[in-house]
Amino acid sequence: MNIIFLGAPGAGKGTHAARLKVEKGYPQISTGDMLRRNIAEGTPLGLAAKQYIDEGELVPDEVVIGMVKQRLAEADAQNGFVLDGFPRTVTQAQALDGIARIDVVLNLEVTEDTVLKRLSGRRVCTSCGSVFHTSRLEDETVCPLCGGKLMQRADDKPETILHRLEVYHEQTEPLIEYYDQAGLLINVQVDGDADDNYRDILKVLGI
Ligand code: ADP
Ligand code: ZN
Repeated sequence: MNIIFLGAPGAGKGTHAARLKVEKGYPQISTGDMLRRNIAEGTPLGLAAKQYIDEGELVPDEVVIGMVKQRLAEADAQNGFVLDGFPRTVTQAQALDGIARIDVVLNLEVTEDTVLKRLSGRRVCTSCGSVFHTSRLEDETVCPLCGGKLMQRADDKPETILHRLEVYHEQTEPLIEYYDQAGLLINVQVDGDADDNYRDILKVLGI
């Protein structure tokens, strides 16, 4: 099954996609993670993307479309995948239509209040990449899984969070209509507890 996770920043796309990968074997194709990896490795693509990401802007369509096209051609993506953070514009969605068949688009619906709480408390492990919320951490600086150093993402600063939400409303929200028209959209309410949300997602997907 080829799945898209749509939703505002902080809706939980990455969290649930990572879990689907571990528990059900669906490759998680996260454009945000791929871009951050390119930045960490100092690739030309990373250098081109860094400023956009730090400022909460979208990376230009042609950059991410090329990246995803390449990724979807890899062997592990031929038997289903979860797209997490792509497409984010109508142009990206149209390009994707020419690259892969999509079976279902889950729109993870969340209130702005939840988004602000989740993103401002988000911490990421610099060693293993796991994501946590400060409300669940004894020590906000140490990864409970691997002992690595926890950091706040540059784009999780309050001003940048608000800007990312604006960008989401303007550029990504139109995709809800786009995929509804295509008959692919299913809405899932994802305020509240992450385990409950995950169970709802499995139920909707029928897996
Ligand atoms: P979140 O969903 O919490 O905003 P992501 O990791 O998905 O986090 O994205 C972080 C940033 O990476 C975005 O703000 C944007 O700058 C860039 N990015 C990720 N995916 C895309 C995309 N499909 N198109 C353009 N920019 C993207
Ligand atoms: Zn870790």
